[in-house]
Amino acid sequence: MNPLLCAPSVTCLLAILTWALAKPCRAQSPATVAEKSNYTATSKHEEVVDFCKQLAKASPLVRLGELGTSHEGRKLPVVVVADPPVATAKEAKKSGKLVVFALGGIHAGEVDGKEALLMLARDLALAKDRSLLKDLIIIIAPNFNADGGDKLGNNRPHQAGPAQVGTRANAQGLDLNRDFVKAETPEVQALVRFLNRWDPALVIDTHTTNGATHRYTITFDGPRHPALFAPLTKFIRDRLLPDVGRRLEKASGYKAYFYGNFAGNPKQWETTLAQPRMGFHYLGFRNRIGILSESYVYAPYRDRVLATHGFVRACLEFAADNQEAIRKLLKEADDSGRSPAPDARVALRHKLVPLPKPVTILGLEGGKTPATGKAKDFQIDYLGRTEATLSVTLPYAYLVPATFPGVVENLQRHGIEVEKLREDTRLDVEVYRVDGIARQKPFQKHALVNVQATPAKDNRTVKAGTYIVHTRQRLGRLAAFLLEPQSEDGLCTWNFFDNALGEGQEFPVLRLPAEPK
Ligand SMILES: [Zn+2]
Repeated sequence: MNPLLCAPSVTCLLAILTWALAKPCRAQSPATVAEKSNYTATSKHEEVVDFCKQLAKASPLVRLGELGTSHEGRKLPVVVVADPPVATAKEAKKSGKLVVFALGGIHAGEVDGKEALLMLARDLALAKDRSLLKDLIIIIAPNFNADGGDKLGNNRPHQAGPAQVGTRANAQGLDLNRDFVKAETPEVQALVRFLNRWDPALVIDTHTTNGATHRYTITFDGPRHPALFAPLTKFIRDRLLPDVGRRLEKASGYKAYFYGNFAGNPKQWETTLAQPRMGFHYLGFRNRIGILSESYVYAPYRDRVLATHGFVRACLEFAADNQEAIRKLLKEADDSGRSPAPDARVALRHKLVPLPKPVTILGLEGGKTPATGKAKDFQIDYLGRTEATLSVTLPYAYLVPATFPGVVENLQRHGIEVEKLREDTRLDVEVYRVDGIARQKPFQKHALVNVQATPAKDNRTVKAGTYIVHTRQRLGRLAAFLLEPQSEDGLCTWNFFDNALGEGQEFPVLRLPAEPK
């Protein structure tokens, strides 16, 4: 029955009432493109910017900023929601509140985060209940790969809508979520600048999956590299993520679990290597909480958006409820960077290893969704831990020749402090001799390098103008990981030292094992 056509009677009024109540009742203004199109389309960049402006007009709690400019010149908006409002990193710091940052559209074909974060910003900014804003400053960058996002096409035919989405890569053909070590795209450079300025405690990076079929609408992950401050890894893996998953399921019914793919024989639940080229792993190397959110590619678009919205909201609730524990943990992580143990080591390569006990994975057989496939639970090993396969002692400092300005620029871009040697100085150093160089097949327009090297002690004069990178600093672990030649994802890997690499030759960066007397 169409209630709009019937004569006004009690039955009919009841029908109208029932019909009205059955309509979804979200705060609709401003509405996202996903909502306006009844989940058949996604926003172009212009529409994202327009939405952000409308939101700033509608709410006194919103301030708009810019992350930077994309390769093709699009301005990348950030929306800051706070009560009272804040516009600068300085004001945020002064407020004493925890800053939480969520990123949408780093892979622009995976549109759910972009739509969900716009909705979430609106829901937070216009809500009567401002309790989350009592403790948090919430910042979203909804459309990070804006250039890729506007290259609409049938770019993800396996995704359950919308039909037209952007590309994975940016306009340079680079995957922004593999750029966090080399930081060569303007987008990632802008993001790292933002991280240095605003220093968010928690960063949520929103994606959509490509792989395994399962019954989770959201899968998630956190940093896991063995080089990281271990209590931080443990807190995210054992406490934060399971808690956030439970919150999401309780609030929405959507199931969530650790991100993975079925692999191996016997079958295992496997995840990505924990390399800092990826944003959420990189955040761990910065002593901060990085969270990967992956909505399930075969779930309907609407469910993916709502589940991403719910997941990010659950992260915010966790952050507000556990802010003291988070502050304490991040301070300890920073302090351990500034004052590492005298025998501290840094892991350079790692492997994934199973958790002590098998886990239950909610799988599917014969279909890609619970509607088309048969539910099947798998009791299998989950490769959710990591172990170092190569580690070295953390030296007092590294010495980078002045002839590698690109290296120094990269370190400073990450926020690592670098000094200069003022005069020629005789020093006890460690020198790596390069024993083997293996190049991998081209990846991200690079021929990744894998180096084997042997250290030897030497006493030599180091020239004035050489850069000194102390490891006793907040990001000391990251500095070591980037500068060690045998690191699996360091600057040597990404060709920063190619013009000086040769078998049997010295690696140009020296280690200063101890503070000079
Ligand atoms: Zn992705």
